Amino acid sequence: MSVRVRFAPSPTGQVHIGNIRAAIFNWLFARHEGGKFLLRIEDTDRERSTPEAVKTVLGALAWLGLDYDEEPLYQSTQKDAHVAAAEELVKKGLAYKEDKGGTGKGECIIFRMPEREAFFHDEVKGDLRKESKDVKDMVIVRSDGNPVFHLANVVDDIKMGITHIIRGDDHVENTFRHIALFEALGAKPPKYAHLPMIVNQHGKPYSKRDGAAFVGDFRERGFLADTLFNYLALLGWSPGEDREKMTKQEMISFFTLDRVKSAPAQMDEKKLLHMNGLYLADMQLADFVEQVKFVISKEPWGSSIDDGYLSSVCRLMQSRTTLFVNAATWKYFFVDIPDYDVKAVEKTLKKDGAKKCLEVLSEKLKINSFEVKDVEAAIRETERECGLQEGKLNQTVRIAVTGTNIGAGVYETINVFGREKTLARLAHAVSLI
Ligand code: GLU
Repeated sequence: MSVRVRFAPSPTGQVHIGNIRAAIFNWLFARHEGGKFLLRIEDTDRERSTPEAVKTVLGALAWLGLDYDEEPLYQSTQKDAHVAAAEELVKKGLAYKEDKGGTGKGECIIFRMPEREAFFHDEVKGDLRKESKDVKDMVIVRSDGNPVFHLANVVDDIKMGITHIIRGDDHVENTFRHIALFEALGAKPPKYAHLPMIVNQHGKPYSKRDGAAFVGDFRERGFLADTLFNYLALLGWSPGEDREKMTKQEMISFFTLDRVKSAPAQMDEKKLLHMNGLYLADMQLADFVEQVKFVISKEPWGSSIDDGYLSSVCRLMQSRTTLFVNAATWKYFFVDIPDYDVKAVEKTLKKDGAKKCLEVLSEKLKINSFEVKDVEAAIRETERECGLQEGKLNQTVRIAVTGTNIGAGVYETINVFGREKTLARLAHAVSLI
């Protein structure tokens, strides 16, 4: 039997990472098995499931490259089938009608839970069971004629021929009921795999109070779709051999349900940033430059920048960038005289002898070849002349030419600046001391 899985979001306006992670796992499983990945929009909540909310879901899927097979099924179109299924259960004596609470609002349809232990085998959590007294009869069609989630979900899964249900473990309790519904409707229940909860650093469900929680947030902050896909795939799945950065093809080939973990998966933004850095480092330089250009064009200093110069700045900074927005801090590359960090000036530039060293260095840098090794040699010679140990001048020079004490390698940075810019900055730094 070929695998058919589905992603069944309830469109509510935003797409939580926990939900899209379920989509990713379903997609990887389907692609690994050569099966189908289907989409069902559970849009029965007419107030929240607006066309915009549906568009947001579709946009998130498209952005992450989660292509689906066949036409999506909109649950709201299936109401008649849901009610018909409930009526059939009434006919078979497996459900009954009742004016619940005697409100006079009309009768609802209630599913009679079988009086036996509820049991299923979960592909991730193992055997799960529940005593029959703990699973109560449940309303499947409200007195206003609207089917409830449980009924609609199961009837649609039967219609779509779903073989495996891979979803968050907040649905485990529902599954005990859903299995009974499948059986009552004469269908074989699918296999289940409940994914571990995504939690914050305190082990509590990860929510927007903990940081970015929606796909759109990450996109806006400049994370690459491939990064988010790869990172979320690892939240609750272990491909083995410490594999982390993987292509989609690799993830597909390694993905099996027995490697899905049952322990909660901790969302760690530092790891996500690190992974984005790995993806950025692997980009084609030209594509990286394009994105940087877009970010810095919004800065007052970021327009009319020479393309060649921008490329060399990017070549230097690409491997140390975790988000494109970091480029907004690269002002010191582009302005005539950088902003000087007052504390760094006090602490380092105003140290005894620093001024003299910078003057000596300025003379030594009046050279034609400005390769990284030439810059390094000039700094080494200056240190020797000033009686400093090797490397002692690096930080002083860095602050003198960039205004700050963080950045890429100082020789490489000076090499990118070129002679004219470097000498002007050294002169300015000397004037500050
Ligand atoms: N609409 C439900 C949800 O988003 C579907 C759960 C399921 O996959 O069955 O939680």
